[in-house]
Amino acid sequence: MVSHKKSNKKQFVILISALIIGIALGVTLCAFKFNSLKITNIANNDISANTTEVAPVAEKVVAPSFDKTKFSTADPSSIWVVVNKQHPLSSVDFVPSDLITTNGATISSKAVDDFEAMLAAAATESITLTATSSYRSYDTQSKLYNGYIAEHGQAVADTFSAKPGYSEHQTGFAIDFTSIYEPICNFDDCFSDAIDGAWLTAHASDYGFILRYTAEKQSITGYKAESWHYRYIGRELATEMKKQSITTLEEFFNVTGGEIYL
Ligand SMILES: [Zn+2]
Repeated sequence: MVSHKKSNKKQFVILISALIIGIALGVTLCAFKFNSLKITNIANNDISANTTEVAPVAEKVVAPSFDKTKFSTADPSSIWVVVNKQHPLSSVDFVPSDLITTNGATISSKAVDDFEAMLAAAATESITLTATSSYRSYDTQSKLYNGYIAEHGQAVADTFSAKPGYSEHQTGFAIDFTSIYEPICNFDDCFSDAIDGAWLTAHASDYGFILRYTAEKQSITGYKAESWHYRYIGRELATEMKKQSITTLEEFFNVTGGEIYL
């Protein structure tokens, strides 16, 4: 009876020992495998695998930088084209192939949706925006410019009117607005004080339009302030320029401008 008990105890001890040895062996093998994996990952420079080994650290999310080359600044059919006294349209008699007339404006089809959305947004505040002059052909600009020269002389005409082939209006991306509320301010600085002019100042960039000519930037854009002249550049660029507090295309794209003709 005693020997039987002893035998049972012995078997029990052997079983427990085998179990402990088994567990120890298992743990050792696992550790070895994990280490080999680690070494392989480091050797492969596998960053994603490595990041799982360290305690998570709050990473600074870096926003992708704005791609300034997404659209051309030289092609007159591009919404980012820069047209000024140093940069005429690449083909001076360029005519946009996608002109659409809507709500009193003749503009590139690329600008239509945002233009209509902007008018609709103003309308929800009972404000009617009035587009008076938009696309102008080379010939129309030529007549206009020559008329201004006859009236004011070239030096003065050049401060507010573009030579044919140098006008943003020829791209189909520019719109001059007038006010039905303060018609006395049409084509005058005080347009921005009229209810519709003020609305445009506050909201146009939300729809991809920028106020192109301001008094502060005359030496860069080459023109006197025109509180009524808006240029379509798309929401993406308008948002980025606002974010960076940059108001001219010349400064944003580092393109030459100024008051001297090429
Ligand atoms: Zn204009």
